[in-house]
Amino acid sequence: MSSEPKLTLLFTRDEIEATVKRLAAEIRRDYGDKHPVLVGILKGSFMFMADLIRLLDFPLEVEFVRLSSYGGGRETSGKIKLVQGVQTKIKDRHVLVIEDIIDTGLTTAFVLDYLGKKEPASLKLCTLTDKPARRKTKVNIDYLGLTVPNKFVVGYGIDWDERFRYLPDIYAMEEGQ
Ligand code: 5GP
Ligand code: MG
Repeated sequence: MSSEPKLTLLFTRDEIEATVKRLAAEIRRDYGDKHPVLVGILKGSFMFMADLIRLLDFPLEVEFVRLSSYGGGRETSGKIKLVQGVQTKIKDRHVLVIEDIIDTGLTTAFVLDYLGKKEPASLKLCTLTDKPARRKTKVNIDYLGLTVPNKFVVGYGIDWDERFRYLPDIYAMEEGQ
């Protein structure tokens, strides 16, 4: 029998809240008069997106895309498929992609390519967390929250096989032996 995974606190809910406030201020400054479309990448970004949008008091639209790649493991397979695309026309709109975590960068690169082909007026990227150690493709992050070490993280919407999304803080996880 394997034991429960071990969680080590990385970022408290207060640090996350301060980070979301800072990002919201930057996004308000840049998009306040642009009526942007914010595109969250499901499922991991839902909690960040909800907290962020509550701090954005200007007209905007919310969209989500959903991809498959992980298959329950801890590493992206690299074979990414679009499961649900945007429902709104984004041609000539200002589009801001909202991610929970960027690891190899393959998922984000796929989404930016998919949205870019629809000819938005602008296309930028905001991520709550970034794990630069394992990057496989270059990704330009316009709004960066927190940099995480080369560990598997969970909490604040980010799961391990659907577990631990509910945690209000962010943890590094080690699987039980
Ligand atoms: P990438 O394509 O950049 O390797 O991975 C992006 C996706 O993989 C993220 O949106 C997230 O769903 C998942 N992912 C990457 N790193 C982690 C991690 O440390 N913990 C968890 N739970 N998911 C991760
Ligand atoms: Mg994600």
